[in-house]
Amino acid sequence: MAAFVLLGAALVGCGGGGAPAPVVKEPTESKGPVASRSASPRADAAAGAKPAPERGAGQGAVPTMAPGPGGLTPVYSRRVAKSPKSAEKVVALTFDADMTADQGPRAASGERFDNPQLIATLRRLKVDATVFMTGRWAEEYPDQARSIGGDPRFEIANHSYSHYAFASPCYGLPTVAGPDMTADVQRAFDAFRDAGAVNVVPYFRFPGGCYDDAALRALGPAGVTAVQWDVVSGDAFAKDADAVAEQVIDGVKPGSLVVMHCTRSAAPVTEEAIRRIVPELRARGYRFVKVSELMSRG
Ligand SMILES: [Zn+2]
Repeated sequence: MAAFVLLGAALVGCGGGGAPAPVVKEPTESKGPVASRSASPRADAAAGAKPAPERGAGQGAVPTMAPGPGGLTPVYSRRVAKSPKSAEKVVALTFDADMTADQGPRAASGERFDNPQLIATLRRLKVDATVFMTGRWAEEYPDQARSIGGDPRFEIANHSYSHYAFASPCYGLPTVAGPDMTADVQRAFDAFRDAGAVNVVPYFRFPGGCYDDAALRALGPAGVTAVQWDVVSGDAFAKDADAVAEQVIDGVKPGSLVVMHCTRSAAPVTEEAIRRIVPELRARGYRFVKVSELMSRG
């Protein structure tokens, strides 16, 4: 039961619950996206780490945001149009693939932290999407990580190695110490690479969405753009796919970024909700894009 509660905290922390995170700072959008030379976070230089993720051949530069003052990690939460008239009806669906370091035995005993049916449905419906993956998830499901990261429809972004919090308190999650934050993010990138994932982008979602200035400063050397959201799907532990679909459909505006989950055991109706969300938003004129495309059109 205790483990269940911990996972609950992890998923609620992803934005699935009703209560806002106690230390979540309002996302600040600084300076608009700038083209970076490559997807490579600067972590390799700063931490002496292994090579950072790279895009597959011919995929071009991945848009990122300029760092804030003093090298602060920039934070992105949605596309903001210059004027309502220029607001294109695009929306980015994002799926957090959570898994903590201590959930291996549960996975070994049959609990499914993955959701291959969800990925298959996104492919069938031709929906581009961004998966914020923990390194631990990529280690548990390397074939799926490679498949997702080898499909041009998807991109893999970083959701930490083991879903520990980068600011405290954060839904009861264990905390990563400031000096270890960049290495934790790099460890997840390493796991994606070891799984053979190709389309890896230098975006990072804080576990639980919890961050503060100290975390943004500590993560500066990682060279990532932090990605939050403006629409909470409420899919964590939801039993009613219609309610999730309704919440997303009602919340989406041009340029929105939606947080959902890619883990069956704790977000069991997400795939069903997607089957309702996608045709409805398309009927309203929306197009589904990856975060990188959303960020490139700011
Ligand atoms: Zn999460």
